[in-house]
Amino acid sequence: MKSLSVKTFAYTLMACSMAWTVVLLTACAPVAQKTAADTVGTSSDNRAYHPVILISIDGFKPDYLNRGVTPRLNALAASGVRAEAMRPSFPSITFPNHYTLVTGLRPDHHGIVGNTMDDARIAGVRFKLSNSSAVLDRRWWDQAEPIWVTAEKNHVRSAIMFWPGSEAAIHGVRPSEYRPYNDKLSPADRVDTVLGWMDKPGASRPQFLTLYFDHVDHAGHEFGPDTAEVTAAVASADAAIARLTDGLRARQIDADLIIVSDHGMAATSPERIVQLDQIVNPLLTNVVTHGSYAGINPKEGQEEAVAKALLQAHEHMQCWKKENLPARFEYGQNPRVPRFICLAEVSWLVEPDAKAAAKAGKGGHGYDNVSKEMQALFIANGPSFRQATVLPPFDNVHVYPLIMKLIHVPALPSDGKLEAVEGALLP
Ligand code: AMP
Ligand code: ZN
Ligand code: ZN
Repeated sequence: MKSLSVKTFAYTLMACSMAWTVVLLTACAPVAQKTAADTVGTSSDNRAYHPVILISIDGFKPDYLNRGVTPRLNALAASGVRAEAMRPSFPSITFPNHYTLVTGLRPDHHGIVGNTMDDARIAGVRFKLSNSSAVLDRRWWDQAEPIWVTAEKNHVRSAIMFWPGSEAAIHGVRPSEYRPYNDKLSPADRVDTVLGWMDKPGASRPQFLTLYFDHVDHAGHEFGPDTAEVTAAVASADAAIARLTDGLRARQIDADLIIVSDHGMAATSPERIVQLDQIVNPLLTNVVTHGSYAGINPKEGQEEAVAKALLQAHEHMQCWKKENLPARFEYGQNPRVPRFICLAEVSWLVEPDAKAAAKAGKGGHGYDNVSKEMQALFIANGPSFRQATVLPPFDNVHVYPLIMKLIHVPALPSDGKLEAVEGALLP
């Protein structure tokens, strides 16, 4: 155990002098308070302890890195690994993609097919982000098993500083640590919670952690991606990442960081709306979800009439029966996917009526997952990762096998393949 610790400590110093030089010359000075043996441990089966921290900055478009306000993220990308882009899964919205990142499954396969869902087998309840009892109900999540559940089953401790699903006892298991979602908790407090978990003694210290920031997504919706408000939110996300990396450095913790987003953001406008009540009689439909795309169920006996209205050509929108969606979306088999999906052209919105149209924000996502506006962020930095490496674009399903390898827990069958991202890892 001792020799492993010393070796790991040496690695920390090496990483300090190499991977981090750009960022933190001063912070790399030896820290006197704690010895390496205090902080760099081994897991219960004697493997070197490199915690893995998966960080999501919701709605962070990779080109936000070019705004001149992200010195820490840019330094981590330059000295570690970055992807030219990471493709989200369809639909490019928050809950489906966060669950994909931690299961390696497409939304059709993990069951979180939307932020808003109906399921005939969970009668009388609509799953919505704002419905906290639904978010807690494992029946919505149980079609898949997220990393933290498999980790806990394998005696690897997990600590989840917000992540869709983390509040539910999925398959009866919860993370060792988690917090009920609270969008008012500041980025700094989220970081400090993670650092506090890192301060736990030996066996109770988590090995897999997540950290989630929502304020860049919120600013993107409210003001639009190309605004000073988004730039300010991006700068504050960078400051939070700096607080985290400084805190880790001060503790001599040599963590593998994977920094991602779930999707990008496109400018939208009340002037670019497709209004569904002008296309199909609203009395015939139940609109489950709307915005960048609409999910529509026909009322009893109205399938044919609804199909006739929706399946013709429309400006700025295309509709399909769920079974006829383009194969590349890998979407439409799950019973929770509504009967019809109507997808807007990027930067347009599909809204049920004038009232909903009037509430349209200035930014949105959920569009075709290959569109350039929807591409997501991927940066990795730490002792397991190569330096100064740029990966060609890859699908976000591959993040899962990468993390499972890093935490030494067997990956469950998924849509992800380690080979697709292995170029990120040191041989
Ligand atoms: P959307 O932009 O419509 O895909 O929804 C994203 C929003 O979901 C974020 O901006 C958060 O406010 C919210 N959100 C993120 N995580 C959670 C969670 N664990 N529980 C409830 N709401 C969440
Ligand atoms: Zn999101
Ligand atoms: Zn959003």
